[in-house]
Amino acid sequence: MSIALFALGGTISVSGRAGGARLTGAEITAAVPGLDGLGMPLDVRDVHAVPSGSLTFAQVLGVVEAASHAVAEGAAGVVVTQGTDTLEETAFLADLVWPHEAPFVLTGAMRQPGMAGADGPANVLAAARVAASRAARGLGALVVINDEVHAARWVRKSHSTSTAAFVSPNAGPAGRVIEGEVRVLAPPPRRTVLPSGAVPARLDAARVALHCVTLDDDGDRLAGLDETHQGLVVAGFGAGHVPASLAPVLGALAERIPVVLTSRTGSGPVLRHTYSAPGSETDLQRRGLINGGLLDPYKARVLLRLLLAAGAGHDEVAAAFAEHG
Ligand code: GLU
Repeated sequence: MSIALFALGGTISVSGRAGGARLTGAEITAAVPGLDGLGMPLDVRDVHAVPSGSLTFAQVLGVVEAASHAVAEGAAGVVVTQGTDTLEETAFLADLVWPHEAPFVLTGAMRQPGMAGADGPANVLAAARVAASRAARGLGALVVINDEVHAARWVRKSHSTSTAAFVSPNAGPAGRVIEGEVRVLAPPPRRTVLPSGAVPARLDAARVALHCVTLDDDGDRLAGLDETHQGLVVAGFGAGHVPASLAPVLGALAERIPVVLTSRTGSGPVLRHTYSAPGSETDLQRRGLINGGLLDPYKARVLLRLLLAAGAGHDEVAAAFAEHG
């Protein structure tokens, strides 16, 4: 048994070398004390060497596919090292399509390897422990960082520099790594695994916009959006509200493309039947917007784009958000 480790770049790979050459996966893992005591060898693969803001859906799905092959060939689990900037999105994308019991664990670092107190080595060790752990099997994709285990579905990057940047505001951490032992405290429920086979070829035809609603928002940039995009996520105020004047604009769009309503607050749900003023969640749902539930705007955009690229129509999108939201 081994752990398959895929290196994608990010802060954990920033070397400080002239020319910006990044650390390889082998160099990243060589710097981790204690990895050799894991009891399983690491099968390290360098896949990308980029800031995570430059990763694409197709690249992430490619890593999932390669990881799937590794598991089919006997790997006990998977570790992905990448930048932290988009970790909450890549993890959720992987989670939606990961079909195996084997843990799919993503990690990274907030501090570069040459900085005092670099957190990359501890994060890689904890991630490898989780990937090798029986306790983490069947939990889908997990983000392991700062000795915490976060379900991909809940995890957020909540700070731009802190080593404690990753939190799960709606649920708390799913587990912790304590004295090297993986303790699962609140296992996330698994949901239907979505099809991904045809997705990479159809991503260009699944463009999803994200509009964050702001005070006195007239929505002018939403005009004609249905001609350029196949879906829209709205990050509304509070529990899913927009200015009254924006409601008919969104309702008209929702007649032509799926429009998913989320909250811009960072945690908590979009409500379903509490407020009824124009622009409220009740009004927007009546106009055809789909309730994003507990998914934040970024994760809702991941799910909507994946669904559209898989060929889902409005009703399938609504059903998927009812389950995953
Ligand atoms: N934290 C950044 C990321 O998410 C690091 C950028 C870089 O690696 O250049 O990738």
